[in-house]
Amino acid sequence: MKYVIGIDIGGTNIKIGAVTLDGKIISYIAKKSRIFKDKKSAIKNLIQSVESVKKSLKENTLIGVGIGIAGTVLADRGIVYQSPNIPELEGIDIRKELSAKVSYPFFIDNDANVFALGEGWLGNAKGYKDFCCITLGTGVGGGIVIDNRIVHGFDGTAGEVGHIIVEPEGAPCKCGGRGCLEAYASSTGLIRMAKQGFKTEKATALRKSCKDNAKNMSPEIIAKLARNGDVFCRGLFKKVGHYLGIAMTDLVNLLNLELIVVGGGLSNAGDLFLETAKKEMQKRSLKVPGKRIKIVTACCEEAGVVGAAHIALKGIRAL
Ligand SMILES: [Zn+2]
Repeated sequence: MKYVIGIDIGGTNIKIGAVTLDGKIISYIAKKSRIFKDKKSAIKNLIQSVESVKKSLKENTLIGVGIGIAGTVLADRGIVYQSPNIPELEGIDIRKELSAKVSYPFFIDNDANVFALGEGWLGNAKGYKDFCCITLGTGVGGGIVIDNRIVHGFDGTAGEVGHIIVEPEGAPCKCGGRGCLEAYASSTGLIRMAKQGFKTEKATALRKSCKDNAKNMSPEIIAKLARNGDVFCRGLFKKVGHYLGIAMTDLVNLLNLELIVVGGGLSNAGDLFLETAKKEMQKRSLKVPGKRIKIVTACCEEAGVVGAAHIALKGIRAL
């Protein structure tokens, strides 16, 4: 039996799994990506992670490693070009750095692209050939699949759904722009919006839950209050849905997709904003593609690991 390792590096968590050739995860660990202090510690940490998962495998059964990274990744060259949520990885020729220390073939792509591949291989997009995955986490990622292939674009930077502009003069985004979806529909965007109203009367319940300290806020606390009917917190998720729906309209009108899969940590609160997003999209989109599109949540949080394994398997077969 042979295996590949899939690594999914997001702005908050790193998920690592040993995966069989038919996509089953046989060993899995998750840790915080804030353990990266700088470039050197990031590389060291990634190698340690590979080695620790490898220990669970029989000798000589590991054949390659696939990595999905939150940021602009030049996939065919293995370089992380821009990563606003994991700046320690910016500018690193990650494939070269890792290959210099460990002898397996490494394959790299953007984290939302590998997430989309995982969903398409074994998840909720299985059987669909034109779809998009939107990952709502620390930031907002996107992976667009057309005719069963990830759309990389000329430089490899395509699919950045998080930087679709939904409010032209809106909130600043980490990318340097303004009014991007990521500034509203990510966990950091949700917290930013909550902070704006934190001191007002309407946020009384939220302040109480956070012991009057905005730093204690989390998407989970806001979601819990929203489910209990708190008007302020419900309003925050309505805003997430509103802006997500605007971005979805652009995707639907531009690409006439069959399916949009919504994943990432914030999608755990999908019951609080997906209906709003769907309504917003239906209201704004062209009739035929707007009627055609299905919107579902992701199969599982491990889709990124499975998708990262997929790029390794595909890469090895292409060697
Ligand atoms: Zn942006």
